[in-house]
Amino acid sequence: MTLTGHSLIAGQAVAGSGKTAFGVNPATNERLDPAYSLITEEQLTTATSAAAAAYPSFSTLEPGTHAAFLDAIADNIEAIGEELIIRAGQETGLPAARLQGERARTTGQLRLFASVVRQGDFRGVRIDPALPDRTPLPRADIRQRQIPLGPVAVFGASNFPLAFSTAGGDTASALAAGCPVVFKAHNAHPGTGELVGQAVVKAVRDFGLHPGVFSLVYGPGASIGQALVADPHIKAVGFTGSQSAGIALMRTAAARREPIPVYAEMSSLNPVFVFQGALKGPADRIDALAAQYVTAVTGSSGQLCTSPGLLFAPEGEAGDKLAAAVARAVSGCAGQTMLTEGIAGSWHAGTRALGSADGVELLGQGTDGTAENAPAPAIFGTRVKDFVANHLLHEEIFGAASLVVRYGSTDELLQAAARMEGQLTASLQLTEEDYPTAAPLVPVLEQKVGRIIVNGWPTGVEVGHAMVHGGPFPATSDSRTTSVGTLAINRFLRPVAYQNLPQELLPAPLQDENAWGLNRRIDGTSVPASSLAGS
Ligand code: NAP
Repeated sequence: MTLTGHSLIAGQAVAGSGKTAFGVNPATNERLDPAYSLITEEQLTTATSAAAAAYPSFSTLEPGTHAAFLDAIADNIEAIGEELIIRAGQETGLPAARLQGERARTTGQLRLFASVVRQGDFRGVRIDPALPDRTPLPRADIRQRQIPLGPVAVFGASNFPLAFSTAGGDTASALAAGCPVVFKAHNAHPGTGELVGQAVVKAVRDFGLHPGVFSLVYGPGASIGQALVADPHIKAVGFTGSQSAGIALMRTAAARREPIPVYAEMSSLNPVFVFQGALKGPADRIDALAAQYVTAVTGSSGQLCTSPGLLFAPEGEAGDKLAAAVARAVSGCAGQTMLTEGIAGSWHAGTRALGSADGVELLGQGTDGTAENAPAPAIFGTRVKDFVANHLLHEEIFGAASLVVRYGSTDELLQAAARMEGQLTASLQLTEEDYPTAAPLVPVLEQKVGRIIVNGWPTGVEVGHAMVHGGPFPATSDSRTTSVGTLAINRFLRPVAYQNLPQELLPAPLQDENAWGLNRRIDGTSVPASSLAGS
């Protein structure tokens, strides 16, 4: 495919009238062609008004066509072939194997959402039939379904240039809900964004959909990103990135004449709690645990939203051995190129601040990588009393850095957990003998996180029906939902009730005929599509 350096607005490649920007190879700090022309606010309005114009037809698309459209986006992304992996590698420094896995996740989640559209339960059909003879008052016929919110603004993440970007989870779930998408390209991977954007535009065209169903716009977050969220055509926002940008967007959305929901995934330390039982057993058990932890901290250069930034280890001999094994394991690690020079700079600033905090020591550190922006992974140590006293120790350092916190008692562990801010995950490393000690921690963690893991590591998020990738603030801006998995579709829906509407005026999913073959809740009872009851 040819990269144009243009935004893709309602099916057209549009040269921006603003400044230009380039992708940069973080391994060399060299610019990558082509130049990307940034759009103006006026040009942005073309995308948002086209999205609004696309809403009536796209939001009522028949399920078979709607699902096939999502499948076609996945097919088109695969059809790009190696060019996508090469460009994404140049723009992010991420290795090819990681990007190939991410591409499979991206197409897999588009196809998963296609199956959700075919199955149809997200439409949430409920029918309370009329009770004309009910006393003292008759009941009207009331029917409910979920409708798509309207055009959605999506901001991609720098650390997942495919799976959390142009056609990533937020875009896939919004399109599956029936919402047109205006995607604000991430400046850290503009060419990758355009390649995937072209794949989406092709599917829109091939299915004869309104071209406003999808637009990809290039522009600075602080101006174009803000204008996008302020635009009255936009009805919801999906975002993954820093706390500061996420909060700025939440403020803009809340200050609108019509406030809209912002689903922002921001920062998380993903604590791991190691119990005494997990450190018993064969001599190499502790080394294995340390190696797994260091792998989770350093994988993808630590630039995963689920990288463990905290490990709670018991005081005493076994905990000492674990801390020593962690120090040995990390000292053997070389730095890997980070996503951008700016993100590497933030890592340096964060580790400098953590390393000089009261009660914190450097446990172990690897070596710098040979390429640019590849700092040596670092693991620090402290005690619970310092952790609970200093908020700096609770701040995410995006990249390969983590803090081992030593605890003396279950009470200390509970105290530390209670003091933590909201997180995406918490992990427990334990054996059966630890169940009584771990039991009081579980209800505390339920209040803090979106996912609790036993004897596993938080990295590697399964995309499925039961997954929750969310959590209380600041992990996300709205703890009631998830940005990974099929439940993510609910973020872009709202219920509407229809009272006493004749069949001719009811939308297809609510008509007695049930032409879309939906499971329904009739008078409070689940009625599978195959049943004729209640129809
Ligand atoms: P970022 O700086 O928050 O940028 C994310 C997106 O938001 C970009 O498109 C950016 O636009 C836009 N943006 C930035 N400031 C904005 C503002 N004031 N108003 C509107 N939009 C704005 O995040 P990043 O560069 O991808 O990564 C930096 C940090 O994000 C990391 O250090 C890490 O802490 C965090 N992060 C967290 C996760 C997670 O999953 N929890 C994932 C990735 C990153 P432009 O840059 O184009 O102007």
